[in-house]
Amino acid sequence: MGVFGEGKSEDSVIRSDKCMVVSFDENRTAGASHAGVHHCDVDRPGRKAGVRLAQCERGLSDVERLNLVGDIDQSGIRADSQDDALHGSDVVVGEAEIGEKGDERRTGHDLAVKWAYVRHSYFDYNATGPVAPVVLRSLAESLSEVYGNASSIHYFGQGARQRVEAARRSVAARLGCDAREIVFTSGGTESDNMALFGVARRAPGCGIVTSAIEHPAVLSTCARLEREGHPVAYLAPGADGVVSADSVAAALRGTGIVSIMHANNETGVMQPIEEIATICRAAEVLLHVDGVQAFGKAGFPAGCDLYSVSGHKMGAPKGVGALYVRKGVALDPILYGGRHERERRAGTENVPGIVALGCAAGIAYDSAGIAALRDRLETGVLARVPACTVNGGQSPRLPNTTNIRFDGIEGEAMTIALDLKGFAVSSGSACSSGAVEPSHVLLAMGLKPEEARSSVRFSLGPGNTVEEVDSLIDAVVECSAHLRRISATFRSEEAVAHA
Ligand code: PLP
Repeated sequence: MGVFGEGKSEDSVIRSDKCMVVSFDENRTAGASHAGVHHCDVDRPGRKAGVRLAQCERGLSDVERLNLVGDIDQSGIRADSQDDALHGSDVVVGEAEIGEKGDERRTGHDLAVKWAYVRHSYFDYNATGPVAPVVLRSLAESLSEVYGNASSIHYFGQGARQRVEAARRSVAARLGCDAREIVFTSGGTESDNMALFGVARRAPGCGIVTSAIEHPAVLSTCARLEREGHPVAYLAPGADGVVSADSVAAALRGTGIVSIMHANNETGVMQPIEEIATICRAAEVLLHVDGVQAFGKAGFPAGCDLYSVSGHKMGAPKGVGALYVRKGVALDPILYGGRHERERRAGTENVPGIVALGCAAGIAYDSAGIAALRDRLETGVLARVPACTVNGGQSPRLPNTTNIRFDGIEGEAMTIALDLKGFAVSSGSACSSGAVEPSHVLLAMGLKPEEARSSVRFSLGPGNTVEEVDSLIDAVVECSAHLRRISATFRSEEAVAHA
């Protein structure tokens, strides 16, 4: 059975207006292995998901984490969820046990089981987001009516070609570049691979300069290129999450390409791309920018040579993206086949995906409105929850992202506890082989592993409302008080004071 189960559709995942019925006891630890709420249940009011509860009143200990992975291994549910560094886990939370009303689970204690209707609100837009309604319509139209191959010379093919080229113009307009500088890809990962392999493999042995806070789509590609004989320098950011242009300048030595992200997906911190571009231009080194999180939310930085874009972060579906390739920049292809995309990317064009990307590129992003909601959330949490800090909070950031460190709380436990209350957020940790790995981004910013593990990312989008934000603040206050009460690391007098 697939991740979503037989006959179950994925489309119910991010409806913020739908209810789910789950059973849980708020006074118990939100143990990961017992948070088996399945996405499929989100859209099914009246269906009851019995959630098994943790046995012990303490934090999400190593033992419980191991149990989680054990449970998941047992149920055979594993997934490729590498869409984001925050979703780098190779496990999925399994299906909920479905029980009848009043069904009681015994886990060593007799548990009072409560039923509660949980409204679901989505605060994980940096991982992915819903397809915008207008995009959905364009997608539906092209899926049903535009089935020609864009390379065919007949009427149907030409209809598809026209739509692909209109989408190319739309993406180019959003970036402020020439349409011929846009290459459509399958998403951000492919765009990053295409840029780095495409440049580096033309210059065997050339150096690469990147940062330690890049997405795995860049870091893993660099690791591969290192094995192919390219020395790679991984620059550390400051404690503010910013990779300085000076550090880039100091690292240039036999460098063929510099790759620095526009905005970090975990903290939202923006990088000084235009300054870095000036340095790269002067040194005649190509600059690739991973713009996956920033595209549409921030202006296109002048001076970069290659810029990666992904559809599913901006209202288009998953599986489509683009790479801006400045006129005159030559790339070796990473895919071999037909002569599509001016011989830069072989493979029959994903016409519906491309049309959707073009449509999404035309949607204005309400930066001010989303930043106001993000600031309301941040201010509300900081005012009501003691001992928490915004990671990278002093730096220029994307308008929609806040990454908050809650001293003494496992970010993963907070994520699960909030999920049970109906709020989807992300912890910066990746679960790997039973251990919770702290975020590489936060570690690179100088946080201690336990500080990195106690961080949670909230990323907002056009669907969020003031009411949702206010409810989320209340939920964070409740969850943090509860998790601190049972925390082994938070000093008990602090816990009492904050309870
Ligand atoms: N780069 C960054 C900064 C990202 O956040 C992501 C996805 O989360 C990617 C690249 C990969 O993009 P895609 O999921 O479209 O492959």
